[in-house]
Amino acid sequence: MAGLKLQDVRKNFGAVEVIKGVDLEVEHGEFVVFVGPSGCGKSTLLRMIAGLEETTSGRLEIGDRLVNDVEPRDRGVAMVFQSYALYPHMTVYDNVGFGLKLAGTPKAVRDAKIRAAARVLQMEHLLDRKPAQLSGGQRQRVAIGRAIVREPDVFLFDEPLSNLDAALRVDMRMELARLHTDLGATMVYVTHDQVEAMTLADKIVVLEGGIVQQVGSPLDLYNRPANLFVAGFIGSPK
Ligand code: ADP
Ligand code: MG
Repeated sequence: MAGLKLQDVRKNFGAVEVIKGVDLEVEHGEFVVFVGPSGCGKSTLLRMIAGLEETTSGRLEIGDRLVNDVEPRDRGVAMVFQSYALYPHMTVYDNVGFGLKLAGTPKAVRDAKIRAAARVLQMEHLLDRKPAQLSGGQRQRVAIGRAIVREPDVFLFDEPLSNLDAALRVDMRMELARLHTDLGATMVYVTHDQVEAMTLADKIVVLEGGIVQQVGSPLDLYNRPANLFVAGFIGSPK
Protein backbone atom coordinates (compact mmCIF):
# COMPACT_ATOMS: atom_id res chain seq x y z
CA MET A 1 0.00 0.00 0.00
CA ALA A 2 1.54 3.26 -1.01
CA GLY A 3 0.34 6.72 -1.66
CA LEU A 4 2.55 9.75 -1.99
CA LYS A 5 3.13 12.90 -0.02
CA LEU A 6 5.11 15.89 -1.24
CA GLN A 7 5.81 18.80 1.08
CA ASP A 8 7.30 22.03 -0.25
CA VAL A 9 9.26 20.10 -2.86
CA ARG A 10 11.67 22.25 -4.86
CA LYS A 11 14.14 21.71 -7.64
CA ASN A 12 16.92 23.96 -8.89
CA PHE A 13 18.96 23.47 -12.01
CA GLY A 14 21.90 25.72 -11.26
CA ALA A 15 20.48 29.08 -10.23
CA VAL A 16 17.10 28.42 -11.84
CA GLU A 17 14.27 27.11 -9.69
CA VAL A 18 12.01 24.96 -11.91
CA ILE A 19 9.86 23.34 -9.19
CA LYS A 20 8.75 26.01 -6.77
CA GLY A 21 7.35 24.42 -3.64
CA VAL A 22 4.93 21.64 -4.52
CA ASP A 23 2.60 20.22 -1.86
CA LEU A 24 0.60 17.18 -2.83
CA GLU A 25 -1.08 14.13 -1.33
CA VAL A 26 -1.98 11.09 -3.36
CA GLU A 27 -4.02 8.23 -1.91
CA HIS A 28 -3.04 4.63 -2.43
CA GLY A 29 -4.63 3.39 -5.65
CA GLU A 30 -5.35 6.83 -7.05
CA PHE A 31 -4.74 7.67 -10.70
CA VAL A 32 -3.12 11.10 -10.58
CA VAL A 33 -2.33 13.10 -13.70
CA PHE A 34 0.16 15.98 -13.85
CA VAL A 35 -0.91 18.20 -16.68
CA GLY A 36 0.46 21.47 -17.98
CA PRO A 37 2.24 23.05 -20.93
CA SER A 38 5.65 21.99 -22.14
CA GLY A 39 8.43 23.09 -19.79
CA CYS A 40 6.20 23.53 -16.71
CA GLY A 41 8.11 20.89 -14.74
CA LYS A 42 6.00 17.72 -15.11
CA SER A 43 8.89 15.43 -16.02
CA THR A 44 11.18 16.92 -13.41
CA LEU A 45 8.60 16.33 -10.69
CA LEU A 46 8.05 12.74 -11.85
CA ARG A 47 11.79 12.10 -12.05
CA MET A 48 12.19 13.36 -8.50
CA ILE A 49 9.54 10.91 -7.31
CA ALA A 50 11.38 8.17 -9.21
CA GLY A 51 14.68 9.23 -7.68
CA LEU A 52 16.22 10.02 -11.07
CA GLU A 53 16.63 13.67 -10.05
CA GLU A 54 17.71 14.80 -6.63
CA THR A 55 15.22 16.89 -4.69
CA THR A 56 16.78 20.27 -3.89
CA SER A 57 14.59 20.72 -0.83
CA GLY A 58 11.33 19.56 0.69
CA ARG A 59 10.00 16.17 1.81
CA LEU A 60 9.10 13.33 -0.50
CA GLU A 61 7.22 10.39 1.03
CA ILE A 62 6.13 7.19 -0.68
CA GLY A 63 3.81 5.10 1.47
CA ASP A 64 4.70 6.87 4.74
CA ARG A 65 8.43 6.49 4.11
CA LEU A 66 10.71 9.48 3.57
CA VAL A 67 12.50 8.61 0.32
CA ASN A 68 14.62 11.71 -0.38
CA ASP A 69 17.79 9.68 0.18
CA VAL A 70 16.49 6.29 -0.99
CA GLU A 71 17.92 4.78 -4.19
CA PRO A 72 15.50 4.62 -7.16
CA ARG A 73 15.37 0.81 -7.12
CA ASP A 74 14.36 0.77 -3.45
CA ARG A 75 11.50 3.25 -3.74
CA GLY A 76 8.85 0.77 -4.86
CA VAL A 77 8.26 2.69 -8.07
CA ALA A 78 8.58 1.78 -11.75
CA MET A 79 8.69 4.30 -14.55
CA VAL A 80 7.38 3.98 -18.10
CA PHE A 81 8.95 6.42 -20.54
CA GLN A 82 7.72 8.00 -23.73
CA SER A 83 10.54 6.45 -25.75
CA TYR A 84 10.14 2.76 -25.18
CA ALA A 85 13.89 1.99 -24.95
CA LEU A 86 13.45 -1.70 -25.75
CA TYR A 87 16.46 -3.87 -26.55
CA PRO A 88 16.17 -4.54 -30.30
CA HIS A 89 18.05 -7.85 -30.25
CA MET A 90 15.89 -9.35 -27.48
CA THR A 91 12.48 -10.92 -27.73
CA VAL A 92 9.49 -9.39 -25.97
CA TYR A 93 9.81 -12.12 -23.35
CA ASP A 94 13.43 -11.20 -22.62
CA ASN A 95 12.75 -7.46 -22.74
CA VAL A 96 10.00 -7.80 -20.15
CA GLY A 97 12.11 -10.07 -17.92
CA PHE A 98 15.44 -8.29 -18.27
CA GLY A 99 15.23 -6.24 -15.07
CA LEU A 100 14.25 -9.31 -13.07
CA LYS A 101 17.17 -11.23 -14.54
CA LEU A 102 19.57 -8.46 -13.54
CA ALA A 103 18.09 -8.54 -10.04
CA GLY A 104 18.84 -12.27 -9.84
CA THR A 105 15.21 -13.42 -9.77
CA PRO A 106 15.07 -17.22 -10.28
CA LYS A 107 14.04 -18.34 -13.76
CA ALA A 108 10.77 -19.99 -12.71
CA VAL A 109 9.63 -16.91 -10.78
CA ARG A 110 10.65 -14.70 -13.68
CA ASP A 111 8.73 -16.85 -16.12
CA ALA A 112 5.55 -16.70 -14.01
CA LYS A 113 5.76 -12.91 -13.71
CA ILE A 114 6.45 -12.36 -17.39
CA ARG A 115 3.49 -14.54 -18.37
CA ALA A 116 1.20 -12.85 -15.84
CA ALA A 117 2.16 -9.40 -17.16
CA ALA A 118 1.65 -10.59 -20.75
CA ARG A 119 -1.82 -11.82 -19.78
CA VAL A 120 -2.78 -8.50 -18.20
CA LEU A 121 -1.55 -6.64 -21.28
CA GLN A 122 -3.06 -9.14 -23.71
CA MET A 123 0.24 -9.75 -25.45
CA GLU A 124 0.82 -13.44 -24.74
CA HIS A 125 0.95 -14.06 -28.50
CA LEU A 126 3.77 -11.52 -28.91
CA LEU A 127 6.31 -12.94 -26.46
CA ASP A 128 8.59 -14.47 -29.11
CA ARG A 129 8.73 -11.39 -31.31
CA LYS A 130 11.49 -8.80 -31.53
CA PRO A 131 10.64 -5.10 -31.09
CA ALA A 132 11.05 -4.45 -34.84
CA GLN A 133 8.12 -6.82 -35.44
CA LEU A 134 5.77 -4.82 -33.22
CA SER A 135 3.50 -1.83 -33.76
CA GLY A 136 3.97 1.34 -31.71
CA GLY A 137 1.14 0.40 -29.38
CA GLN A 138 2.53 -3.09 -28.89
CA ARG A 139 5.97 -1.67 -28.07
CA GLN A 140 4.42 0.61 -25.52
CA ARG A 141 2.71 -2.40 -23.99
CA VAL A 142 6.08 -4.16 -23.68
CA ALA A 143 7.46 -1.10 -21.89
CA ILE A 144 4.51 -1.22 -19.49
CA GLY A 145 5.10 -4.97 -19.07
CA ARG A 146 8.62 -4.27 -17.89
CA ALA A 147 7.18 -2.05 -15.17
CA ILE A 148 4.45 -4.54 -14.19
CA VAL A 149 6.84 -7.46 -13.52
CA ARG A 150 8.60 -5.37 -10.91
CA GLU A 151 5.30 -5.19 -9.00
CA PRO A 152 5.79 -1.57 -7.93
CA ASP A 153 3.56 0.19 -5.44
CA VAL A 154 3.57 3.22 -7.68
CA PHE A 155 3.67 3.38 -11.48
CA LEU A 156 5.14 6.51 -13.03
CA PHE A 157 4.27 7.32 -16.64
CA ASP A 158 5.90 10.14 -18.59
CA GLU A 159 3.78 10.90 -21.66
CA PRO A 160 3.63 7.20 -22.57
CA LEU A 161 1.24 7.70 -25.48
CA SER A 162 2.62 10.79 -27.15
CA ASN A 163 4.47 8.83 -29.87
CA LEU A 164 1.30 7.02 -30.95
CA ASP A 165 -1.20 8.12 -33.56
CA ALA A 166 -4.53 9.52 -32.40
CA ALA A 167 -6.67 6.38 -32.84
CA LEU A 168 -4.18 4.20 -31.04
CA ARG A 169 -3.90 6.74 -28.23
CA VAL A 170 -7.59 6.35 -27.55
CA ASP A 171 -7.26 2.53 -27.44
CA MET A 172 -4.24 2.69 -25.16
CA ARG A 173 -6.02 5.14 -22.89
CA MET A 174 -8.74 2.59 -22.33
CA GLU A 175 -6.13 -0.09 -21.72
CA LEU A 176 -4.41 2.05 -19.13
CA ALA A 177 -7.71 2.65 -17.37
CA ARG A 178 -8.35 -1.11 -17.35
CA LEU A 179 -4.82 -1.77 -16.11
CA HIS A 180 -5.37 0.63 -13.25
CA THR A 181 -8.56 -1.17 -12.29
CA ASP A 182 -6.92 -4.60 -12.58
CA LEU A 183 -3.75 -3.78 -10.63
CA GLY A 184 -5.20 -1.36 -8.10
CA ALA A 185 -1.81 0.38 -7.93
CA THR A 186 -1.13 4.06 -7.48
CA MET A 187 -0.43 5.67 -10.82
CA VAL A 188 1.18 9.03 -11.51
CA TYR A 189 0.82 10.03 -15.10
CA VAL A 190 2.32 12.99 -16.92
CA THR A 191 0.79 14.49 -20.05
CA HIS A 192 0.40 17.82 -21.79
CA ASP A 193 -2.89 16.54 -23.27
CA GLN A 194 -5.95 17.87 -21.43
CA VAL A 195 -8.26 15.22 -22.88
CA GLU A 196 -5.99 12.45 -21.68
CA ALA A 197 -5.92 14.03 -18.24
CA MET A 198 -9.68 14.50 -18.06
CA THR A 199 -10.46 10.93 -19.15
CA LEU A 200 -7.86 9.05 -17.07
CA ALA A 201 -7.52 10.93 -13.81
CA ASP A 202 -9.11 10.48 -10.42
CA LYS A 203 -7.16 13.59 -9.51
CA ILE A 204 -5.57 16.20 -11.76
CA VAL A 205 -2.65 18.38 -10.77
CA VAL A 206 -2.39 21.43 -13.02
CA LEU A 207 1.16 22.78 -13.19
CA GLU A 208 2.43 25.99 -14.64
CA GLY A 209 5.92 27.39 -14.25
CA GLY A 210 6.81 24.87 -11.55
CA ILE A 211 3.82 25.85 -9.41
CA VAL A 212 0.69 23.82 -8.74
CA GLN A 213 -2.21 25.90 -9.98
CA GLN A 214 -4.94 23.54 -8.83
CA VAL A 215 -5.55 19.99 -7.65
CA GLY A 216 -8.94 18.42 -8.10
CA SER A 217 -11.09 15.85 -9.81
CA PRO A 218 -11.76 16.40 -13.52
CA LEU A 219 -15.24 17.59 -12.62
CA ASP A 220 -13.93 20.04 -9.97
CA LEU A 221 -11.53 21.55 -12.46
CA TYR A 222 -14.15 21.81 -15.13
CA ASN A 223 -16.82 23.30 -12.88
CA ARG A 224 -14.66 25.35 -10.55
CA PRO A 225 -11.33 26.26 -12.14
CA ALA A 226 -9.20 28.13 -9.59
CA ASN A 227 -8.01 30.75 -12.06
CA LEU A 228 -7.96 31.77 -15.69
CA PHE A 229 -4.95 29.63 -16.46
CA VAL A 230 -6.73 26.47 -15.32
CA ALA A 231 -9.95 27.52 -17.03
CA GLY A 232 -8.11 28.14 -20.28
CA PHE A 233 -6.06 25.01 -20.08
CA ILE A 234 -8.92 22.69 -19.21
CA GLY A 235 -11.11 24.42 -21.74
CA SER A 236 -13.94 25.51 -19.49
CA PRO A 237 -15.89 28.61 -20.53
CA LYS A 238 -15.30 30.44 -17.26
P1 ADP B 1 7.85 19.31 -18.84
O1 ADP B 1 8.08 17.84 -18.62
O2 ADP B 1 6.64 19.85 -18.16
O3 ADP B 1 7.85 19.67 -20.30
P2 ADP B 1 10.47 19.57 -17.62
O4 ADP B 1 10.27 19.04 -16.26
O5 ADP B 1 11.14 18.69 -18.60
O6 ADP B 1 9.08 20.11 -18.20
O7 ADP B 1 11.32 20.91 -17.54
C1 ADP B 1 11.01 21.96 -16.62
C2 ADP B 1 12.04 23.07 -16.76
O8 ADP B 1 13.30 22.61 -16.29
C3 ADP B 1 12.26 23.51 -18.19
O9 ADP B 1 12.48 24.88 -18.20
C4 ADP B 1 13.52 22.76 -18.59
O10 ADP B 1 14.22 23.46 -19.58
C5 ADP B 1 14.29 22.71 -17.29
N1 ADP B 1 15.15 21.52 -17.18
C6 ADP B 1 14.75 20.23 -17.21
N2 ADP B 1 15.78 19.39 -17.06
C7 ADP B 1 16.89 20.17 -16.94
C8 ADP B 1 18.29 19.91 -16.74
N3 ADP B 1 18.74 18.67 -16.63
N4 ADP B 1 19.12 20.98 -16.67
C9 ADP B 1 18.65 22.23 -16.75
N5 ADP B 1 17.36 22.57 -16.92
C10 ADP B 1 16.49 21.55 -17.01
MG1 MG C 1 8.25 16.28 -19.98
